[in-house]
Amino acid sequence: MAKFSSAISYWEQCKDDILAGCDLCGSCLEVCPRYRFPASGLTDPHRDIERYHALWRTGEASGDMYELVYTCVGCAFCRDVCPMGFNVYDSYHHYSRYLAWKAGLPPRSKTELRIPHVRGNIAAVLSAMQMRPNQVRWIWDLDSGTPRREVLLFIGCITHSHPDKIFTLLDVFDRMAVDYLPLGGGPICCGGTFIVSGLYEEATRRAKDMVAKFNAYGAPTVVFWCANCLRHCQGFISQITDLAFEAVHASGYIARNLDRLHFAHPVDLKVNVHDSCIIGRSGLRDYRSIRSIFEAIPGLKVVEHAEAREKTPCCAVGKGEMNQAMRRRLYQLVASTGAGLMATVCNTCTMTMGFEDAQLPFDVTNFINVVGWALGIRHEEKLRHLAQLGNLEKALTEARECFAAHGYTDGEVRDKVGPFFT
Ligand code: SF4
Ligand code: SF4
Repeated sequence: MAKFSSAISYWEQCKDDILAGCDLCGSCLEVCPRYRFPASGLTDPHRDIERYHALWRTGEASGDMYELVYTCVGCAFCRDVCPMGFNVYDSYHHYSRYLAWKAGLPPRSKTELRIPHVRGNIAAVLSAMQMRPNQVRWIWDLDSGTPRREVLLFIGCITHSHPDKIFTLLDVFDRMAVDYLPLGGGPICCGGTFIVSGLYEEATRRAKDMVAKFNAYGAPTVVFWCANCLRHCQGFISQITDLAFEAVHASGYIARNLDRLHFAHPVDLKVNVHDSCIIGRSGLRDYRSIRSIFEAIPGLKVVEHAEAREKTPCCAVGKGEMNQAMRRRLYQLVASTGAGLMATVCNTCTMTMGFEDAQLPFDVTNFINVVGWALGIRHEEKLRHLAQLGNLEKALTEARECFAAHGYTDGEVRDKVGPFFT
């Protein structure tokens, strides 16, 4: 039975437990990668733990808390190190941001809601630049008349920024002959986008609504394309409502159905698997699925660097100096393997690193593309192409026919996603 009424009450309990039993040993922040980077502004784990404690006790946040709270990249290196067994990760990453936001420190990046079926937000506009309205292959919502399938394939929100990968995923599921229903997301939402926007009560409402709809639909298995949605589902959502279905990531589902796929197209490449925080130490702890899929693909050789699996550096989403330094360190590790490709699993990693590879000695793409190549499935990675043009006007010219079919003007696209292409 779910023990908490909301995400906030769950995180408050995590915080209360820490305040009651923490002996300030410092183990949790000593592993925090921010201390390797002077740009983070953090220098002393013991002093910083006391700053966190002060925030958790009082709910008061001064200006310098901003750096402390908002430079946390959510990498979860602190997740499993507390000798007292406290969930410090949720307290550092989620609850501190909630308190800072309540104290008047707004979310660091101008994150906006990414709800793909609602006209005009960033996911909808990026999607419209790459696919026409008649290419939608999923339904957006569930109701009592929705046909019953064994598997619900839930796509998510920001994932719609890469329609090519959704198409490949659906083609792979078709090849597996799975009895499945593709569900877009949008009206159904795990609440994650509301957390990063500082709307914590709404996140709780959305998460409970999502689970209620999945429970009512009755599919025994819900496959998540977005690892972040699944991480939330297995994390705070399972603490505030009861799941009547098995929740699994698409990579795990494909891995256990490999006998349904015939990889007839060798992929002669050395590939490094990027063990994202979300797939790994922040929740799912699944380092096996992607590797077992890749081991089944003829020609493909998985190569590992010295910090593979639970030690893998975070993609550190963001363009700040520290975030870029964290990524440079990861890129050096991958380059040391001689890999021609780094395969991501999490869509945030794909979004963060998938356009930077023009400067790297290896390509970066989502693992589903590699699965597609081995099956003879290829959909052009249009967003990567448009982003690597490095010129908004050229991107607009190439994508105009597509976004105009959705009724968007140049001005609307320029206003919404312009900085993304420069
Ligand atoms: S999630 Fe990562 S960046 Fe944030 S406190 Fe934990 S170790 Fe540090
Ligand atoms: S590791 Fe646990 S006991 Fe040590 S400072 Fe962190 S929360 Fe406190």
